[in-house]
Amino acid sequence: MNALDLPALAPELEWITDSTRVHKFSQDFNWYSPVLKRQLETLSAQVVARPKTQEQIARVVSLCSTHHIPLTLRGTGTGNYGQCVPLKGGVVMDLSAYNQFLGMKDGVASAQCGIRLIDLDKATKPLGFELRWIPSTFRSATLGGLYGGGFGGAGSITYGPIAAPGNVISVKVMSMGEMPQVHTYHGLDALLFHHTYGTNGIVLELEVAMAPSIDWSEFLVVFESFDKALSFANALSVGSGFVKKEVALIASPIVGYFTALQAHLPANHHAVVACVAPQSVVALKELAKQHMGLVTYEKTAQEVLASQRTLIEYTWNHTTLHALKVDKTLTYIQSGYDPQRYLEQVKQLESLLSPEVMVHLEFIRTKEGLVNCSGLQIIRYTSDERLQEIMQIHRDHGVQINNPHVYTVEDGKAGGQLNPEILRSKTQHDPLGLLNPGKLRTWSAPTPMAS
Ligand SMILES: Cc1cc2nc3c(=O)[nH]c(=O)nc-3n(C[C@H](O)[C@H](O)[C@H](O)COP(=O)(O)OP(=O)(O)OC[C@H]3O[C@@H](n4cnc5c(N)ncnc54)[C@H](O)[C@@H]3O)c2cc1C
Repeated sequence: MNALDLPALAPELEWITDSTRVHKFSQDFNWYSPVLKRQLETLSAQVVARPKTQEQIARVVSLCSTHHIPLTLRGTGTGNYGQCVPLKGGVVMDLSAYNQFLGMKDGVASAQCGIRLIDLDKATKPLGFELRWIPSTFRSATLGGLYGGGFGGAGSITYGPIAAPGNVISVKVMSMGEMPQVHTYHGLDALLFHHTYGTNGIVLELEVAMAPSIDWSEFLVVFESFDKALSFANALSVGSGFVKKEVALIASPIVGYFTALQAHLPANHHAVVACVAPQSVVALKELAKQHMGLVTYEKTAQEVLASQRTLIEYTWNHTTLHALKVDKTLTYIQSGYDPQRYLEQVKQLESLLSPEVMVHLEFIRTKEGLVNCSGLQIIRYTSDERLQEIMQIHRDHGVQINNPHVYTVEDGKAGGQLNPEILRSKTQHDPLGLLNPGKLRTWSAPTPMAS
């Protein structure tokens, strides 16, 4: 039995079998990395299943389990590390049609995994709430995909990453098996399914803590001096009186790649993108003046809505996307600085590696609540060896590399240190190892007991 035989066994489900479309549904944004692109671009599932209900999801799970067919989950495929590229063929299960908003109670929203983040925000805004973090892909990315493969986004400067305790209340998870089981996990147990690339269970529903909804104003503040831009971004980030959703430093020459914003970006200047609450606007302008920054772009929330353009889509990994649209030879790395000395590390590495490495920093709060910055540096790619050297230089300066040029859970953000509980939960929910096989490198199937 192979995956191509499944549609005939379950004709009530929606299946895609056309190989060109199946290949499209088997790929994500791994092409950001020249290394991953080489390894993954030809890989494909055999069929795609598009369930709309929990019963239909269970049917796909049961078929794959019965016939030992690999099953890879997909939201909308905006991941960067080949997370939803099936290494061993089989079925891709597109969960984007399982997308209902389930309600809000006591500041907690619940929704099915396939809901797009923009739709979740739209459903909760009239109730006075918004998501605590949105990736710059919020228009297309799903809640389940963000949980399975993402980190955080705009909002993480206040609420930390998704993994900060208190952000995710619970997850409902389906396990693999001929008779799939559903379990609900809370708090730290729920986090065992975060950033595990859909290898240890199918997250059906999530309950997430929300933030009060705010009409965010958006700003570009530009600086001649890199150091002044850095200290402005830092002062805004640590300043306890500023209500903010986003603070990013995008250094020259990266801002030159923002073609649609050039009227606001003088040559050879560094830019800080900031989203603040209306009551913080006056203080932001004062702070900019103190750091010799010039406000070149200012939009109220109403203007942002009317223009359909948000600066959030110039931050996080959209910054890289804008650069790649202009110059396809570029690539990037992801890094976490040391919260005790990030400013010193940023300056050291900038003077050592610029212009080969171009600075893009996202200011965030860590899981522990400290202000820090996370780097999504853009690199002038020359060779795999040099890329490795650049990452090593960062490590040698005490900066953690969340390597975006590998596709396994262990070797990316986990930095080789996987919580052993994740392996235990893999064995519990997917004993045959059918979920996204090859992505959880250190897991091996339990040996059957001799009878
Ligand atoms: C331009 C660009 C900007 C980005 N900006 C950000 C950002 O600001 N912050 C950030 O964190 N990331 C960012 N990313 C990465 C990516 O957009 C996010 O991780 C996104 O939320 C993924 O959602 P998705 O629906 O596309 O998931 P997919 O890419 O489809 O899936 C991601 C992973 O989750 C797994 N998965 C999907 N659904 C489920 C489920 N129901 N249960 C279990 N596992 C599941 C998949 O198997 C896969 O391994 C960016 C990427 C790009 C290309």
